[in-house]
Amino acid sequence: MFLDEPARKTPLVGAYDVAVVGGGVAGIAAALAAARCGAKTILIEKQFALGGLATLGLVTIYLPLCDGCGRQVSFGLAEELLRISIRHGWEDRYPAPWLESGTRESREKRRFEVQYNASVFAILCEQLLRESGVEILYGTSVCGVQTENGKIRALFLENKSGRSAISVRCAADCTGDADLCAMSGADTARFKQGNVLAAWYYAQHGNRVRLKMLGFADVPDKYKSENEKRQNRRRYGGIDGAELSEMVQDAHTALLADFLKDGSVSQKHNLTAMAAIPQVRMTRRLCGAYTMDDTEQHKFFTDSIGMIGDWRKAGPVYELPFRMLYSEKVKNLAAAGRCISVTDDLWDVTRVIPACAVTGQAIGTALALSDDLPALDVGTLQARLRNDGVRLHECELETDNR
Ligand SMILES: Cc1cc2nc3c(=O)[nH]c(=O)nc-3n(C[C@H](O)[C@H](O)[C@H](O)COP(=O)(O)OP(=O)(O)OC[C@H]3O[C@@H](n4cnc5c(N)ncnc54)[C@H](O)[C@@H]3O)c2cc1C
Repeated sequence: MFLDEPARKTPLVGAYDVAVVGGGVAGIAAALAAARCGAKTILIEKQFALGGLATLGLVTIYLPLCDGCGRQVSFGLAEELLRISIRHGWEDRYPAPWLESGTRESREKRRFEVQYNASVFAILCEQLLRESGVEILYGTSVCGVQTENGKIRALFLENKSGRSAISVRCAADCTGDADLCAMSGADTARFKQGNVLAAWYYAQHGNRVRLKMLGFADVPDKYKSENEKRQNRRRYGGIDGAELSEMVQDAHTALLADFLKDGSVSQKHNLTAMAAIPQVRMTRRLCGAYTMDDTEQHKFFTDSIGMIGDWRKAGPVYELPFRMLYSEKVKNLAAAGRCISVTDDLWDVTRVIPACAVTGQAIGTALALSDDLPALDVGTLQARLRNDGVRLHECELETDNR
């Protein structure tokens, strides 16, 4: 059954070159890159803080910028944001082998990753965006788009003021769930396996506050043992409102049970923080002009926009082709972070923080340069990315890594 809504006129409240939807790590990097390229940029976030899963989701381990064999592979904003995340110190300060004086041998033994304070990271990112001229609009959901001739022309917003619209030259989908891609008619695909329950939280033990990681990073079915395949855990798809609410309630119940099993609440043992957003890993993604697979390790892509390693193991390096970030159908739309165009088997590698920063920087830069991404001269994009500190190809690495 359906209800007809009355037709209405929506106030147009602004005009922007680049609208970034979603303020997780991907959105932060995209907005920063676009603004630094001179684009009039707005970042729209439905929560009231930046960082998404990386802050409000309490996922506070900035996974490696290196390949596990002593070489840094992710640069540019991925490195800048990692440094910012620990600027005021936390459990892991800058890993010593990755200081200027570090040797390749010492770097092989210690991956280039850190653990950071979620609240400090969120505030520092906010300050950085404001200093860079990004307009941040919190408490606002993008709930619709107006498209014309294969391009997004306006976004519809809902917030405390009611419903409004902004006109945009181009838009970045950094929602994690490809919401904007779906709204604008780009092809999307769902993660077939679904997500297992996760409930990361912080608890105090004596004088220390510790991250407790309840739940596990699932592996693609094709890599599972027969025994693992037989385990029949509940899975959550992550893009159904009612199911997400149920998942969050299940996570709360699991969290409290896990916390209480260690002992009762006391001054020495206390629950200090739970996630404020659902902890889902892979949900829905863009079907881009190219879909990359986990078999494409060490492959040279002429349109690479940066590189990532594999957080799960040492060795693999992936160059990320620009074509996996945009849709042929909606030419002024690009996606970054959790919802880029990868197969289910690669998704677990590209969903993590460094990859979100690498892809965010690439699309922010690209959208500042053009509102027709399939027609954009990739060489121009790559020149700008290089200028902003990004390394594009694995063959360029040896001179930078001792
Ligand atoms: C349990 C768990 C553990 C993980 N562990 C790690 C780890 O240890 N290290 C690591 O590097 N990665 C880890 N990850 C993955 C990583 O944290 C996330 O995938 C990454 O932070 C995602 O960034 P993102 O910007 O793509 O998306 P998100 O962080 O999901 O950000 C999307 C943002 O968009 C906003 N948004 C969504 N829809 C709209 C809309 N319509 N309008 C306005 N705003 C909207 C959301 O509020 C959110 O802030 C983990 C993930 C999970 C779930």
